[in-house]
Amino acid sequence: MAFESLTEKLQRVFRDLRGKGKLSEADTKAALKEVRMALLEADVNFKVVKQFVKSIEERAVGAEVLESLTPGQQVVKIVNEELIKLMGSETTEIKMAQDRDITVILMAGLQGAGKTTTAAKLAGKLKAKGHRPLLAACDVYRPAAIEQLRVNGEKVGVPVFSMGSGVDPVNIARAAFEKARQDHNDILIVDTAGRLQIDEQMMEELGRIKEALRADWTLLTVDAMTGQEAVNVAKTFEDKVGVDGVIVTKLDGDTRGGAALSIKAVTGKPILFVGMGEKLSDLEQFYPDRMASRILG
Ligand code: GDP
Repeated sequence: MAFESLTEKLQRVFRDLRGKGKLSEADTKAALKEVRMALLEADVNFKVVKQFVKSIEERAVGAEVLESLTPGQQVVKIVNEELIKLMGSETTEIKMAQDRDITVILMAGLQGAGKTTTAAKLAGKLKAKGHRPLLAACDVYRPAAIEQLRVNGEKVGVPVFSMGSGVDPVNIARAAFEKARQDHNDILIVDTAGRLQIDEQMMEELGRIKEALRADWTLLTVDAMTGQEAVNVAKTFEDKVGVDGVIVTKLDGDTRGGAALSIKAVTGKPILFVGMGEKLSDLEQFYPDRMASRILG
């Protein structure tokens, strides 16, 4: 389960605080030191941790204690609020394009991050909301990806447009948009090529598809289990092609949670969804407040 050890450590810190009737500055500082350690062990970006602890300290030390709360409870409340803020406060929903009938969502990510699976999961989710999505297979370098998308599209009842692997992905994307127009689809989800590592050609191609389709949403899929590497990947994609949001997969297997906690602060881009398993129904909307509650246990 995600955040397992972080939750356990934070609960221990708060348990010690709860026992105290009155908190001295030293008590608070000692507790925050533990919080800092717990976050670093959860693989949260160190700059993010520093800023986070500073914000809490500023609010907690010397703060007026609400009458209804013990000082310990007050610290828990502040940590909760700061965690929510750290993860972006608001839930980001996929809004439909206003200037045309088809909303284009571009799926980006490194190979193995879960991009193709997530494209199908997202298509199924949007279909369940009453939309008519079309999936487009533009990962021409990994023929298995086209087949995987076709199979998963079928499972979620969403059509998949493909032209095989011998065609320029930009042309496939354009043809898919035309197909979506003919078939009256209102959403086009484009699965783009992933590589094992970030490379210029991948970025350039992604940029070309983004421009050709005037993508409304460029969503980056990253693997939670890779921790800070996922954060670095997100930062690079944001700098090179620009992303509108991030999907963090495999949170079900990530006991630390550092990526989910750092991405918004490091990249400025929100997490929209989290992958919680291999099944096509295992994609959840990301709610910063619920995630904070989950972390605090
Ligand atoms: P791509 O190369 O980025 O397109 O990655 P795939 O979609 O092929 O996914 C790689 C592997 O990760 C597959 O075995 C997926 O089933 C698995 N996967 C994707 N998302 C999740 C998730 O949220 N949780 C778990 N446990 N596995 C996932």
